[in-house]
Amino acid sequence: MHPIIILGSGPAGLTAALYSARARLQPLVVDGHEAGGQLTLTTMVENFPGFPDGLMGPDLIASMRKQAERFGAGFRGGSATAADLSRRPFRITIDGAVEECQGLIIATGASARLLGLESERKLMGHGVSTCATCDGFFFQDQEILVVGGGDSAMEEAIFLTKFAKRVTVVHRRDKLRASKIMQDKAFKNPKIDFTWDSVPDEILDVNQGKVTGVRIRNLKTSAVTERPVEGVFIAIGHTPNTQIFRGLLEMDEVGYIKTHEGTRTSVPGVFAAGDVQDRVYRQAITAAGSGCMAAMDAERFLEHAGH
Ligand code: NAP
Repeated sequence: MHPIIILGSGPAGLTAALYSARARLQPLVVDGHEAGGQLTLTTMVENFPGFPDGLMGPDLIASMRKQAERFGAGFRGGSATAADLSRRPFRITIDGAVEECQGLIIATGASARLLGLESERKLMGHGVSTCATCDGFFFQDQEILVVGGGDSAMEEAIFLTKFAKRVTVVHRRDKLRASKIMQDKAFKNPKIDFTWDSVPDEILDVNQGKVTGVRIRNLKTSAVTERPVEGVFIAIGHTPNTQIFRGLLEMDEVGYIKTHEGTRTSVPGVFAAGDVQDRVYRQAITAAGSGCMAAMDAERFLEHAGH
């Protein structure tokens, strides 16, 4: 029996681990299917306060983990595959084994949807990115491709024009999904142009270990063209990692966990922190902040529940 189990080991989970370990709650952190979360998919992080020269995403995560371990947080690999939240202790199945806990912090994050190309995976963090706020700065005066036709894609494209020479939005249809206001902004921006009815077929060049161009396929004509670019931003949406909690916790229509009064969910004793409950800010620092809140909320809950 664990006083607290924390699902997820990104900035939200690790900050929750640090705070609850210091509160002597001996948290058990379950790494999840992407140990370290989205920061492990990026390279230089320049917007995490306290690091004036920036630092590498994986290094930031490694430091957070070490800090939580120093105060006694326990870690185990694997992912939660089922949960029984109908009564306490909660029962969480982790790769076939059942663990029990009095308090649960869900920090399983959201995963950026990807196109599914092998080259996209290999060049992630080396010219391919899913976060313009994080990586846009590295593309000063360069040619960039943004994939997607929703609000995120427009927001990323507009943001990237601050740095880039030119931004090309590649969308699979001939109409954007984005809101009218975002469409207008993007259409008005002289640095943005559009390639319609198209998807990237291949990102070049895996052999060089960096992005040098993209092969684009027109879905109507099947014509394939090659475009030289130095950066590719994939903005085709995020999926919150909440599948196992469907029907157990209140969620919005997309599957983000609803929180109230801080990090409380619809089940007393279950808290949610980071991207799993945030479809707006999605930053490492906001995730870390909400992880701290979840640990404090859980500590208070356990105190009142007499543990
Ligand atoms: P979204 O609205 O689901 O849009 C995803 C876009 O990616 C769509 O245009 C979709 O094409 C395309 N897409 C999906 N899978 C694809 C694939 N496999 N290959 C190529 N294209 C693919 O996601 P989002 O833009 O991240 O927005 C999510 C929510 O957050 C929305 O409700 C949005 O309004 C909100 N949001 C708001 C703002 C803002 O107001 N400033 C900013 C960001 C997000 P189709 O159009 O053909 O489906």
